[in-house]
Amino acid sequence: MSCKIDYEAPADLLAGRVIVVTGAGDGIGQCAALSYARHGATVILLGRTIAKLEATYDLIEAEGLAQPAIFPLNLEGASLKDYHDMAETLDKEFGRLDGILHNAGLLGRITPFEQYNPELWEQVMQVNVNGPLWMTQALLPLLQASDDASVIFTSSSVGRKGRAFWGAYAVSKFAVEGFSEVLAEEVEHLGTLRINTLNPGATRTSMRKGAYPGEDPMTLRTPEDIMPTYLWLMGPDSRGHNGERFNAQPA
Ligand code: NAP
Repeated sequence: MSCKIDYEAPADLLAGRVIVVTGAGDGIGQCAALSYARHGATVILLGRTIAKLEATYDLIEAEGLAQPAIFPLNLEGASLKDYHDMAETLDKEFGRLDGILHNAGLLGRITPFEQYNPELWEQVMQVNVNGPLWMTQALLPLLQASDDASVIFTSSSVGRKGRAFWGAYAVSKFAVEGFSEVLAEEVEHLGTLRINTLNPGATRTSMRKGAYPGEDPMTLRTPEDIMPTYLWLMGPDSRGHNGERFNAQPA
């Protein structure tokens, strides 16, 4: 499981590419969207809170980068039809798709499994697993048409080694790890589409604060600090890596 924290991305790394970032209104997703735009991409900002997506849009616009697009979608309630409509819109508006960063995520509750609420469990699985998975299915034709496309599923250390009380969140990340391997094998023959997982590691965001309320956030890396691996894995320098697990920070 390698980490590319020292990677220096060329300024035009993602020039001409169209990339969907989910959960683009906050935390790591906002930072990745801005970072991809700074490296030339046209970014589709997907998320559930329009005001937050607009804030990311404004950051990108203020730097005079390629004009992004806002795609409001709540992964919890989205249907397969929504994802097919999304594919149709992207095809019509942009005519291509070169990457998806599946970043949106829900923590759920950190609690003994004995007390886990089944509805909350379903919500976490919907946002962290089912939504990204069906979105990927609907967008596969566009991704397959690209001559170099990258799909990144965001994992976590608890998706690689189970930990008490992390319930649905941990299970959802294990599911994403498994699914990535399945899909990676299915698309391997194409040679132009790669599917990998990326664990950001402990990062200064509101989700981390929710999980570790007593921790001093200043001891953590910021989303900006972990961008080198996000850029490397989305861009052409990671060509040939398929079905692998990456970390954005050294272990
Ligand atoms: P964050 O600041 O809480 O951001 C999560 C994003 O997901 C927000 O933009 C949120 O939108 C979006 N989201 C949540 N539910 C959604 C839904 N139903 N539909 C659409 N979007 C939804 O968290 P983060 O720390 O940046 O996390 C980003 C990813 O990294 C997650 O997958 C997380 O599991 C993973 N991760 C983070 C850490 C860490 O230390 N921070 C460590 C390991 C893994 P709203 O703002 O509108 O709610």
